[in-house]
Amino acid sequence: MKNIYCRLFNHDFIVKNEITKFVKEYKCLRCGMQLTTSDKGELVPLTDKRREINKVLKNLYNKRRKIKQKAY
Ligand SMILES: [Zn+2]
Repeated sequence: MKNIYCRLFNHDFIVKNEITKFVKEYKCLRCGMQLTTSDKGELVPLTDKRREINKVLKNLYNKRRKIKQKAY
């Protein structure tokens, strides 16, 4: 039932996890479908592999941000 609703009215996505400034993980509030931003900037389904990549990316991003903050 909830999937039919999404098909008719589009998904209702919220940002679930901010990886970097450009890469985010989204989740549909209605059906629970998850998406993420690919390296090409497109929205793609959030697979286990993508989740792993995002985790690494987030670590790198946070590390880089910390180094930058120290420099100031
Ligand atoms: Zn949905």
